[in-house]
Amino acid sequence: MNTQQKLVELFKKFPTVGSRTAGRFVYYLMKLPKERIDEIINAILEVKNKIKLCALCFQPFEAGPVDGSTGLCALCADTKRNKNLLCIVEKESDLLSLESTKKFNGLYFILGGTVGTMRKEEISQLRIEQLKKRLKDLSIQSGASASEIIIALNSTPEGRTTSVLVEQTIRESFDSAQDLRPSPKITHLAKGLPVGGELEYADEETLESALEGRK
Ligand SMILES: [Zn+2]
Repeated sequence: MNTQQKLVELFKKFPTVGSRTAGRFVYYLMKLPKERIDEIINAILEVKNKIKLCALCFQPFEAGPVDGSTGLCALCADTKRNKNLLCIVEKESDLLSLESTKKFNGLYFILGGTVGTMRKEEISQLRIEQLKKRLKDLSIQSGASASEIIIALNSTPEGRTTSVLVEQTIRESFDSAQDLRPSPKITHLAKGLPVGGELEYADEETLESALEGRK
């Protein structure tokens, strides 16, 4: 494999990038002056070195000298947030959309995607194992107080399939828990999201009422 092909193969691994787009990327890079290439390489390295994924919610955050050691993002490290409320979202931008409503004071978990089928290969792309671990910690933390888990996935076919999977995971986690603590209430965002049902296209007001009307 020549160097050009090698780079094409690397780009093909990026989400949504096929052979043709990968080839275009390489062609574009070959035409760039050396300084621009250095800039791109350094920017990638900087992201890799400075941006960490939060150990609790998996939100990317720029780790400073202090929070870098806890491994938690500012949101998860905030003691004023309600730890008995957990909201499960597909991706970081959905977390940010919900945060912008200022109507949710709990914590989050970013699933990392949605699936169209219950096939094992597809499910393995999601953070189901990490979710189980989080739920286990949650059942230890929550004590006697009733906690609530909000499944805030898009109301698209993939979002709905994934909601079923997540709900199953939650029920299994609490059924198998040894501590006999009450299972959390599981709720979903209210209907009324725009056509297609994607959180990221909903305006603040719509999201706010979807959150308030959850059941
Ligand atoms: Zn976090």
